[in-house]
Amino acid sequence: MFANIAQPAADEIVELMARSSKDDRPFKVDLSVGVYKDANNNVLLMQAVKAVDQQLANAGRNKSYVGSKGDLEYVQLLQELVFANQAVTGFVSGVQTAGGSGGLRAILDLIKLANPKAKIWVSDPTYANHIPTIKAAGLAYEEYPFIDYKTMTLDESAMFNTLEKLGENDVVLLHGSCHNPSGLRLTLQHWQQLAQLAKSNNFLPLIDTAYQGFADGLNEDAAGLLTIANTVERLALCVSCSKNFGLYSDRVGAAYILSPTQAEADKAQSQLAIMSKATYWVPPSNGAEIVKTIIKDPALKNIWSEELAQINIKIKSIRTKLCAAFCQQSGDNYFDYILSQEGMFAMLPASPEQMEQLRDQYAIYGLNNGRINLASIPEHKIEYLVKSILAVTHRTK
Ligand code: PLP
Repeated sequence: MFANIAQPAADEIVELMARSSKDDRPFKVDLSVGVYKDANNNVLLMQAVKAVDQQLANAGRNKSYVGSKGDLEYVQLLQELVFANQAVTGFVSGVQTAGGSGGLRAILDLIKLANPKAKIWVSDPTYANHIPTIKAAGLAYEEYPFIDYKTMTLDESAMFNTLEKLGENDVVLLHGSCHNPSGLRLTLQHWQQLAQLAKSNNFLPLIDTAYQGFADGLNEDAAGLLTIANTVERLALCVSCSKNFGLYSDRVGAAYILSPTQAEADKAQSQLAIMSKATYWVPPSNGAEIVKTIIKDPALKNIWSEELAQINIKIKSIRTKLCAAFCQQSGDNYFDYILSQEGMFAMLPASPEQMEQLRDQYAIYGLNNGRINLASIPEHKIEYLVKSILAVTHRTK
């Protein structure tokens, strides 16, 4: 049966994690995987998450199945958080999923069911798992321009020139905030323009929210989603709690559909549940229970959102220090693009070969597309990092 199957290409991030863990050079800087690390270089376990996790374990809850739509109280509370407690025109329905990735897959399956001819448009570049998931769902995809690779800034006109040609068989995948991998920021004006385009051309916006709270704040980061939701009749939204709750391995997420009628919203929700049911039966519940408990309890929510705000401040300070070091060591302000961005990531103007040289000669680990995770940069290694990047990209004074 399986003798002739092809060997798939290795997963870049998993491979780099394994390679970096074997690299014991003391000057190593691992910026490959998208997780937030504390000052001691450990993946952060957030205080509120730790407290609730222990509380739940001590309570000795049973581990019975949740329904295939998941815990609907969690789904509702997460929806309120993601929409910044703002009402939107229309009817939102959703299901709990295994991470944001499970949410994306369920939505893509729903799109395939509704319109097998739909084409999913992803930004160039986009999160590494987007295209494989679209392919696995059996849908067509194409890229729309996003970054100007020379200046590492948003190629606004190229993006809108492409998107304005789209129509009702098209789905445009947008990152809710903190674009992965580029860190590029969409302004409110961009979101308004996108919303108007979606409305006039009747394409479906599909928003992937994986970094709420990492740009300007929990409510502020909902601005793009709210702008679109209040303009169009229909949208799809997948949400990940992996980053903003630090619950990566617990697989906590959700999928939502905005519909013009309650009946359509109900049908979408039931179909989404069937998509999950056919994949993993019911979603995992421990992480969702943690998120629900935190959102519901004002004191815990305060501890969590404060800690998230501190993480955000730290990432912003790394951006500032990194830019200052680039400017000082290179003698120009090319790298100032890093300052105007948001979230954990930025891209270096480096080829895959140069990224490999960074790994091989300098023990600096980033992705082949130039992505580095700023949240993993230890401050005392900034000077070394900058010096090495400038040497490899030939940008030294
Ligand atoms: N969407 C984006 C844009 C991401 O960057 C990531 C993770 O890096 C995900 C989704 C995956 O989220 P999850 O781990 O919850 O499946």
